[in-house]
Parts: sequence; C-alpha cells; structure tokens
Amino acid sequence: CGIVGYIGNNDSKEILLRGLEKLEYRGYDSAGIALKNEEGVHVFKEKGRIADLRRAVNETIFANIGIGHTRWATHGVPSKENSHPHQSASGRFTLVHNGVIENYDLLKREYLADVPFKSETDTEVIVQLVEKFASEGLEVLEAFRKTLTLLHGSYAIALLDADDHETIYVAKNKSPLLVGLGNGYNVVASDALAMLQVTDQFVELMDKEIVIVRENGVTIQNLNGETIDRASYKAELDA
Ligand code: GLU
Repeated sequence: CGIVGYIGNNDSKEILLRGLEKLEYRGYDSAGIALKNEEGVHVFKEKGRIADLRRAVNETIFANIGIGHTRWATHGVPSKENSHPHQSASGRFTLVHNGVIENYDLLKREYLADVPFKSETDTEVIVQLVEKFASEGLEVLEAFRKTLTLLHGSYAIALLDADDHETIYVAKNKSPLLVGLGNGYNVVASDALAMLQVTDQFVELMDKEIVIVRENGVTIQNLNGETIDRASYKAELDA
C-alpha cells in the first residue's frame, strides 16, 4: 500500500501512475487517483492492478494537482467503492489514507450519524469529519487538525479541497510518508523510490505532523499549529 501526490507546473497523471507502479512491491488490491484542475476534482479508481487503473484514467485531462493510492484493504472488502480516493458527502474534500483508524466506528456514531457513507472503510470517516468541521465554519487547516486529534490509529494522509487550487494537505502518524522538493513543484510519497523520477531531495516527516504542500514551498506544523524547520536530504537510491 502506498501514497503519492504532486502539485506544480506539470501534468500530474503520468507522475502519479509511475509513482504508484514503483510502490507496487509493497502489495495492494486496488488503486486510485484524484486529478484536480480548474474545473474540479476527477477521481479514477479500480480494484486490481495499476494497469487496470491506467486504462480507466481519462487521458485528456490536464491536472497540475493530484493524489494517488494503492490500497491494502483492512476495513471493507477490496472493491471499487472501497478503493481510495474517498470523497466527503458534498464532494468538496477528496482523501487517500494508508493505515488503520481504530476508533472510526465511535467517531461515526458520535459526529456523523446523519452523513450518508459511500464505503465500508475506516478511512471515509476522516474525510467526512473534515467536511463536517469545515462546514461548521473552521478553516480547512483547522478542520483537518481537529480531525487528526480525534483519530486513534495509524495514518498517512493526503487531502484535496475542491475550493483551493494551491494546496495538498498531508499528515502522518505511524505510517511512512515523505515530502519531495522540486523546482516549481513538490511531491509526497510513502517511499522516496516512488518520486525519484522527479526529485532526489526529500524531507522526512515525524508522527503527528501536518504538511501544507504548495507548488512553491512546503510548511511543516505539529498538531499545535507550530511551524517546524527541517532540512531536506538527498536520497541515494537508483530510480
Ligand atoms: N484502512 C484503509 C482501508 O481499508 C486503508 C488501507 C491501506 O493502508 O491501504 O481502506
């Protein structure tokens, strides 16, 4: 299972698909990507191989923001519906997640009793919580942070807001996730291997950190909202 993401000046489709292919060795049962351009967010997902996903992706979409996922099902059978990305009820938020949310059922009952769920996954509760807190008036970053403080378990997350064409929100706890730095673009990946095609400069993330990833920079924060400075390192691997 794995995560990739891209924001920058190029088309993201091929970068994401190649990144997911590099993560195939980790094992998975389904895969998906969300491509964002000025028209909106376009989600493609399939049970099965990356090659099946490739065939399902609309070749004509140009999107300079995107996130991708390979799933190893823990909650809900391997199926198209349970594949990531998952979207919030209104469609505003789109999210991919690796890991397990242990208290998802409790959170669902406590906060989301009225929300129609589209999948059987533990993951969907995350994206629905972000939408709930944002719809109650919180800034997206605040809504994301509030959601993360409620989660028990492991996560590597990438989140898109349909109303924001400048940002990928990322977070990590007990599941691997890195940010990669490029010139005019930045990327995220579970493993540097997935993004060596576009950069060899990576920033390690610690548990319970949020990263605001933009075309021209990345900002790391802890869950208290304090900014964290961290130097990048050069990945010494062969693509
Ligand atoms: N628990 C999530 C699910 O079953 C994520 C699994 C994964 O890490 O791929 O969809």
